[in-house]
Amino acid sequence: MSQIILGILGGGQLGSMLAIAAKKLKIKVVIFCDDADAPAQNFCDEFINGQYNDKNKILEFAKKVNYITYEFENIPFATLNELNKLRNVSPKPSVNRLIQHRLAEKDFVNKLNIRTTKYVYIESKEDLLPLEDFLPGILKTTTMGYDGKGQYPIKNLEEIDSLKIDFNKDYILEKLVKLKKEISVIVTRFGNNKYEIYEPIENTHQEQILRRSKIPAEIDKKIFDQSKEWAIQIAEELKYIGTLCVEFFIDRNNNLYVNEIAPRVHNSGHLTINAYNISQFENHVRAVCSLEQIKLQKLSDAEMINLIGNQIIPYRQNLKLDNNQFFFDYLKKDIKEKRKMGHLTTLK
Ligand code: ADP
Ligand code: MG
Repeated sequence: MSQIILGILGGGQLGSMLAIAAKKLKIKVVIFCDDADAPAQNFCDEFINGQYNDKNKILEFAKKVNYITYEFENIPFATLNELNKLRNVSPKPSVNRLIQHRLAEKDFVNKLNIRTTKYVYIESKEDLLPLEDFLPGILKTTTMGYDGKGQYPIKNLEEIDSLKIDFNKDYILEKLVKLKKEISVIVTRFGNNKYEIYEPIENTHQEQILRRSKIPAEIDKKIFDQSKEWAIQIAEELKYIGTLCVEFFIDRNNNLYVNEIAPRVHNSGHLTINAYNISQFENHVRAVCSLEQIKLQKLSDAEMINLIGNQIIPYRQNLKLDNNQFFFDYLKKDIKEKRKMGHLTTLK
């Protein structure tokens, strides 16, 4: 077979882990990223630093590769669309456009008769005032949010002024769910009714940032089955190609809600590298490069912790690991508070 070259937009840790998976399949990787310090440049064959709206640079990138994918959802739709005229971009740009926008994403999920949190579109402070019913709630920017960025928890109408909300942006207001648990389901779709699905993963967040993921999730069979069914339904409806993650809430009455969809590999799936025969990253590469679909097999229970900010330091200083522990350093240049610096997976 002739050499396959995969182009990846985005150069964070997800790009690194995709590049590593691709290399194991003897696929060459070219990464395009707007950050000159992007950590994924340590793991790819070629790195191009440029802005996502720089037409010439993007064209240069497209010419070098056979297939294109992306590792984060905030790539401009126009760029993905242009690239898709030249090379096969997966997942499709239209999928990304839908999911980039929290309102469109939630409307889409509701149309499938899948439960989401109660939400409403907000353009101005005045829109908030009659919405006592949605409080306590969380105001979230419709675009560009991640790790809780662009979110304002609101307890009551009186505190709105003190939150200094930037109304140049638009938002959705979501009613707060009384959470019992959060889980995610990762599925890789290869084509019509052809997919590999991982078992639900239980996730613990602190300050809206994922801290810990584990399998098995401590959930009952109804939630186990329903979450997988909804994830498959979403992937099918989007005619998705590649790995997708659906994040769910479970409330104190054991109701399941879709929180959000990530049209990409996902932090909660890092444990699939060690706990399954094929990781979410390898499956993504297989699907977007039209390679063979291999039956998924779980090898072990597992737990993954994110190493955030200074937590990476002892691991960098050769902290002794047990032989069931796997440490991954994202090789980010600077340690910053709240920044995901690496992770540790322990097989159980
Ligand atoms: P991000 O795009 O930053 O991941 P999310 O919408 O997933 O944003 O929110 C991050 C985390 O904040 C969630 O995983 C959850 O812990 C908490 N959260 C967000 N929305 C709600 C809600 N409506 N009710 C309860 N918790 C929420
Ligand atoms: Mg989230």
